[in-house]
Amino acid sequence: MAIDFSFSPELVEIRDRVKAFVDDVIRPVNDRIERDHLRSTDKAAYLRELLDLRRQAKTAGLWLPHMSAEWGGMGLGHVELAMVQAEAARTYYGPWVFNCQAPDEGNMHTLAHWATDDQKERYLRPLCDGTVWSCFAMTEPEVAGSDPTLIRTNAYQDGDEWVINGHKWFISNAHRANFAILVARTEDDPDRPQAANTAFIIDLPSPGWTEVREIETMHGSTGHSEILIEDLRVADSQRLGGRGQGHLLGQYRLGPARLAHCMRWIAQAETALDMMVDRSLKRYSHGSLLAEKQGIQWLIADSTMELYQSKLMVLHAAYRIDQSQSDPTVGFKSEVSMAKHFVANMLNRVIDRSIQVHGALGYSTDTPLAHMYQHARWARFADGADEVHQMRIAQRTIAAFRDFGSTRSATGNLPI
Ligand SMILES: Cc1cc2nc3c(=O)[nH]c(=O)nc-3n(C[C@H](O)[C@H](O)[C@H](O)COP(=O)(O)OP(=O)(O)OC[C@H]3O[C@@H](n4cnc5c(N)ncnc54)[C@H](O)[C@@H]3O)c2cc1C
Repeated sequence: MAIDFSFSPELVEIRDRVKAFVDDVIRPVNDRIERDHLRSTDKAAYLRELLDLRRQAKTAGLWLPHMSAEWGGMGLGHVELAMVQAEAARTYYGPWVFNCQAPDEGNMHTLAHWATDDQKERYLRPLCDGTVWSCFAMTEPEVAGSDPTLIRTNAYQDGDEWVINGHKWFISNAHRANFAILVARTEDDPDRPQAANTAFIIDLPSPGWTEVREIETMHGSTGHSEILIEDLRVADSQRLGGRGQGHLLGQYRLGPARLAHCMRWIAQAETALDMMVDRSLKRYSHGSLLAEKQGIQWLIADSTMELYQSKLMVLHAAYRIDQSQSDPTVGFKSEVSMAKHFVANMLNRVIDRSIQVHGALGYSTDTPLAHMYQHARWARFADGADEVHQMRIAQRTIAAFRDFGSTRSATGNLPI
């Protein structure tokens, strides 16, 4: 078995182009938007700046790194994508500029796999072109989002149409989305609890779909909406996948989407560590630079080791997803689960340490750290809470021991 962490010259060239584009084109605009608070002071100028960045990215061939050429993308595998996502997310707007931001990126994977040809042309094509936005509507206020078998939003068939009633919240992007992928309960008496839900594509706006509010969160009111669904009617042709396959579709979507989050979180953590070291080399206290103090070196060392572990886990999980495309017997759920849990927690720890080394400056909004910290807290429970991943990881480890007399296959199925 070959273990090779080097990339081909073509991929190194792509990574360098992405890096240069992020540093030279996106970062100056990103910094200007933040400095001038453009988003709140001049929304039209803010959108103009962002759309212009997108045009430049498209012209430079840095568009849709996660999609195949058929959809106008760069046709990268998941390992290669890790490299591009990690470069893109070094700035806040990077993923959006390359059109590989959540939740659209996960929705593109989902549509590419589950949609009919007609649905693909109608929804996936414009999403890939960057002319529309989408959202994914699953979580509900009344029941635990961690357990989708509890979903209460209900759809019943009426002739050639479905009538949907329910309540969703924290639906990212819903405020501006042109369509939603909605998961609703359709089966009263399924064979298994996981076979009760079905997914639908909903054009937005639609009668019966009401945005109650954008929910104010730790990082402000930025597009996570509460939605009331009352007698919303959709044609059966808007069903995405088969009846009862909504849970499966959600699981399919979450594999690559969770890992794409990890790739972006690695970029954020790396930025925080760079800032931590930079600050420690410039700040002087009690006779020496912070960088010369053992207490600070431990913060740097722990962050470095955890970032290294994160990169290895993400690369390995991405490798397994790539392998699974040609060999469906290769699993990746466990590796993605472990990576998601570890990277989400690593991100929170590294940003926290960086804030600590910056002192009051780190607590201010003069650096991006405070903003990054507010965003990072979400990582520990969204797309699978820490404890749910731990539960599944433990179940797989116990099963491996029961089945094979060893836990080895559960620890990444590596050759050591
Ligand atoms: C910023 C943001 C964006 C989001 N975007 C979307 C979106 O676009 N679309 C969408 O559908 N949803 C979205 N969500 C919702 C997100 O997916 C849910 O928050 C997540 O699935 C957890 O569900 P919940 O909030 O209902 O928490 P719950 O399921 O109620 O869980 C709460 C806590 O209970 C504990 N817990 C739960 N189950 C177990 C268990 N089995 N064992 C031990 N402990 C357990 C965990 O500590 C967990 O954190 C978003 C959330 C946020 C904050």
